[in-house]
Amino acid sequence: MARISDLLAGGRTYSFEFFPPKHEAGWLSLGRTISELEHLRPDFVSVTYGAGGSTRTKTADLVSWVRRQTPIAPMAHLTCQGHTRADIREILMTYKAESVENILALGGDPPAHGAAPMPSDYRFSGELVEDIREFGGFSIGVAAHPELHPRSTDRASDRQHLADKLKRADFGITQFFFDIDHYLQMVDELAALGADQPVVPGIMPISNLGQVTRMATMSGAEVPEFVIRAVGKAGDDIDEAERIGVELASELCARLLEAGAPGLHFYTLNRSWAATEIFTNLGLRP
Ligand code: FAD
Repeated sequence: MARISDLLAGGRTYSFEFFPPKHEAGWLSLGRTISELEHLRPDFVSVTYGAGGSTRTKTADLVSWVRRQTPIAPMAHLTCQGHTRADIREILMTYKAESVENILALGGDPPAHGAAPMPSDYRFSGELVEDIREFGGFSIGVAAHPELHPRSTDRASDRQHLADKLKRADFGITQFFFDIDHYLQMVDELAALGADQPVVPGIMPISNLGQVTRMATMSGAEVPEFVIRAVGKAGDDIDEAERIGVELASELCARLLEAGAPGLHFYTLNRSWAATEIFTNLGLRP
């Protein structure tokens, strides 16, 4: 198995994110997606964690399945929301017993429908990073928001909090973005604050403009005019919109690699087509 910090020290990483499906049909389809993407030989895959621990068992099941059934290193997402320190210890013990070596330590999305945040022993993800570090044995990642966290009060403090947690962790993975300047500026600002841990850009190939715009609003990202115009040309043609989305994502990835990004992390939405096309366009297929 592999620790992501070691993989990043050895060169660029290419990785995919999945979410645990709600229903049986979704699991069957995800199984197919994973076996298709396995051919691209990703360095690791990550599995999301539902708001307030709502997917606690499903996330752990999927992470363990990847660990046992594939040669790919899994990373489990874990959130502060809804958890006591004792819960977190229990979850870490389960992962340790399964030889899972990578955790993405997160604040956590608020529960749906504007419900109040779940009680937690943690205020911020940096505190979760400290507990995981103290527990020992895990390579630890954190979330980075190139266009600032949606709840941040100002740029300087948001960057300072990010720099502080990155220094305690091993690497970062970004929220998706479409304008490379946001990523490059963030990396420069972090370097100026003494945080030089690798921050892997998160890539979201657009397939549905409405859905991505809603996700962008929630995560504090902007869907720039040039993206709206390009995807808008497809009109109601879903296949054409997906093709344009892949073209835009391929261009962004090529520029990121040219600019020295330490890897690429793809938000797959549990589908294989877009990531496979982008790998082909970038000449990354094994
Ligand atoms: P934090 O680091 O806690 O930051 C939250 C806010 O608090 C920021 O505004 C920050 O500036 C501020 N802050 C941080 N530290 C301090 C401090 N010491 N003092 C004062 N203010 C501070 N959500 C899920 O629920 N499940 C997932 O699986 C999931 N996966 C994700 C994967 C990636 C790659 C990314 C980028 C996000 C993911 N998210 C997920 C979303 C994430 O949980 C939300 O964006 C959440 O609102 C904040 O997460 P964070 O880890 O950045 O929080």
